[in-house]
Amino acid sequence: MTTLGVGGAAEYFFRAADETDIAKAFEWARERILPVFVLGGGSNIVVSDAGFRGLVVQVVLRGLEFKEVGGDVVRVRAGAGEDWDEFVGECVERGLAGVECLSGIPGLVGGTPVQNVGAYGQEVSETISRVRCFDRKGFRSVEFSNDDCGFAYRMSIFNTTEQDRYVVTSVEFDMKRGGNPRVGYKDLKERFAGRVPTLAETRVAVLDIRRQKSMVIDPADPNSRSAGSFFKNPIIPADNIAEISNRAGIDMVPAFPAGDGRVKVPAAWLIEKAGLEKGYKLGRVGISANHSLAIVNLGGATSMEIMRLKDQIQTAVESKFGIRLQPEPIFVGF
Ligand SMILES: Cc1cc2nc3c(=O)[nH]c(=O)nc-3n(C[C@H](O)[C@H](O)[C@H](O)COP(=O)(O)OP(=O)(O)OC[C@H]3O[C@@H](n4cnc5c(N)ncnc54)[C@H](O)[C@@H]3O)c2cc1C
Repeated sequence: MTTLGVGGAAEYFFRAADETDIAKAFEWARERILPVFVLGGGSNIVVSDAGFRGLVVQVVLRGLEFKEVGGDVVRVRAGAGEDWDEFVGECVERGLAGVECLSGIPGLVGGTPVQNVGAYGQEVSETISRVRCFDRKGFRSVEFSNDDCGFAYRMSIFNTTEQDRYVVTSVEFDMKRGGNPRVGYKDLKERFAGRVPTLAETRVAVLDIRRQKSMVIDPADPNSRSAGSFFKNPIIPADNIAEISNRAGIDMVPAFPAGDGRVKVPAAWLIEKAGLEKGYKLGRVGISANHSLAIVNLGGATSMEIMRLKDQIQTAVESKFGIRLQPEPIFVGF
């Protein structure tokens, strides 16, 4: 049930189709003193070979509502169990701008606020207005405004301060009818050469670029058997760049402004410069031949093998640059 295709089974498994189901599942687990893991589309997790001793609840709540709220804003509420890319496709078809650059990201709607999903210069935090959740502690439904969610790069309260407390049941987005697509990313700018594309053209272009990097799940593409980017781009004080470059004997490490005097360093670049190239193999796992940030199950791999390669990459980058790469996926059952 994961895109990486490693790891053992769940001891108990339940699909929750509405909020009552979710409450029942947590009640059931509470009576048996079992831990519960909340699963979406399984595209951002690494499950241990021993599996998960407890209950896995997959959130499959459906439903899409579109509501005009004045001006050119359309408020869209999507059930947490809606397929994310189909949702993006639907918005683009209706001429609603705000998530077009997030085309092709696997998983379900409910997973997107968790790590503030982003790609090609766009993040879900820019359009999310509210997140509805089941509170595992209070056993009731609660709603969070955008500000309450504490969104930052690959971060929200759902994967930091309040990790494992809230189950996302639906997400509300404020989209712009007739808005222009976001064309901020280099690959997209080059493709459209100064012309403003339509939302549909942008979606096609993003899907195209992602496919070339094996970042769209395709059973025919072995390089897409991954959890997407395995490491976050490190964010460090801008002043440290010269020292890091010196240490590595490199003219200048590439860095992009990240606010507050800090810069974002591309993790993919660090990995390559640490000597681990695209296509590198370690037994049955490897680095994607098309993207140096993705660890790939080459067939029949175990999660232990994934962890060994993860460690090797972290050690290589740390010894060359003094930067410890932080993994992006969530580790389950370790
Ligand atoms: C090929 C590929 C490309 C990718 N590209 C990108 C990219 O461009 N940008 C990006 O940001 N990510 C990317 N990802 C990562 C991943 O697709 C996203 O993080 C996605 O939003 C995860 O959603 P999911 O439903 O699969 O969550 P899962 O993997 O099932 O779960 C991930 C985490 O979210 C929690 N979770 C899931 N659903 C809920 C819920 N309803 N309530 C509470 N917690 C929940 C889980 O407990 C877990 O901690 C990529 C992954 C792959 C495999």
